[in-house]
Amino acid sequence: MNSQYYIDLEDKYGAHNYKPLDVVLTKGEGVWVEDIDGNRYLDFLSAYSALNQGHRHPKIVKALQDQLERITLTSRAFRNDQLGLFYKKLSDMTGYQMSLPMNSGAEAVETALKVARKWGYAVKGIPKYEAEIIVAAGNFHGRTITIISFSSEPLYKDAFGPFTPGFKIVPFGDLEAVRAAINPNTAAVMLEPIQGENGVIIPPEGYLRGVADLCKQNQVLFIADEIQTGLGRTGKLFASDYEKVRPDITIIGKALSGGMLPISAVLADEPILGLYQPSEHGSTFGGSPLACAVGIAALDVIEEENLPERAFTLGNYFIDRLSEIPSAHIKEVRGRGLLIGVELKPEAGGARRFCEALQGEGILAKETHDHVIRFAPPLIIEQETLDWALPRIAKVLQMP
Ligand SMILES: *Cc1c(COP(=O)(O)O)cnc(C)c1O
Repeated sequence: MNSQYYIDLEDKYGAHNYKPLDVVLTKGEGVWVEDIDGNRYLDFLSAYSALNQGHRHPKIVKALQDQLERITLTSRAFRNDQLGLFYKKLSDMTGYQMSLPMNSGAEAVETALKVARKWGYAVKGIPKYEAEIIVAAGNFHGRTITIISFSSEPLYKDAFGPFTPGFKIVPFGDLEAVRAAINPNTAAVMLEPIQGENGVIIPPEGYLRGVADLCKQNQVLFIADEIQTGLGRTGKLFASDYEKVRPDITIIGKALSGGMLPISAVLADEPILGLYQPSEHGSTFGGSPLACAVGIAALDVIEEENLPERAFTLGNYFIDRLSEIPSAHIKEVRGRGLLIGVELKPEAGGARRFCEALQGEGILAKETHDHVIRFAPPLIIEQETLDWALPRIAKVLQMP
């Protein structure tokens, strides 16, 4: 069977809610993937940062296999011998007292929003159902109806109302706008420390610190969505660490399983997460022994292989080398750690054609929005592999 066979199957029988590059992958190992014709590619997307540990990391595969031989799912109706260990691992590694496991990132965001509202009523004393949550324009927090209700991107949102009320959108990076939006009914401010999907947008220095301080002064929770930026991607365990900010709630997902299963979690201290009472929230698969065993191994790898430090060092190196590429198309190279965006000038004709050309060079990257190429390889990548990629990237960026 050739690629076209699989492409046609997908397009005929599947909803067209993505516009993938036409490469049909069948194997992955470390930073490399292979298509059904045997062509090898360097994975520069890492499944939107879910593969920080690389494809099929042996330690995580082993944890998955071992747990498969024992028990996979208990539901939270019963206890299991992996969940407590997973909680403890998360707590030891992040310093938060508690966590709540879910599956997808969007579910974890919903979980954080629900508990922030409950905190607003039970602790802050906001009148019932008046709680407001402040978010930033350009945000990406997932795809549920509530989450798209506070999106500023028409494509994510416009066809799908009516929307969930209770959210205020302010410009990203503008501290005064947050100050002006806070009122006695504000329960929380939720931000991505770097807006990944919006094109790797880094806020001005001091912004996160400023928002965290404003929240503290006004008895407002600060929620960081670190689903994409967290777990080492930006060169620290969390992108919030750059401003020594400890959010009241941190949301993680993606790399929490190293690409094996959907695993997400909400991290916070007892006065917040302790507010959930039995039956107020749950998930059939969240906290399954399989997920917990995989999650522990995925976190172990991040620690044992110093992935945040690797991302920091290699990211600086790669950003410097990318910045040296003489290309008339490049408007800006920006990033932190190995979350890097190359923004092209509007007249470059869009990032998509460059990503298609990169595919021809054995590199898989994906445009984000129209004009940004995102480079986010697995954090286990070696400098020599980056050096292999650089001339190929330069060649593509120098196309007419
Ligand atoms: C990917 C992502 C989500 C949504 O995660 P899903 O697992 O796709 O639901 C939420 N927030 C951020 C910042 C993300 O990058």
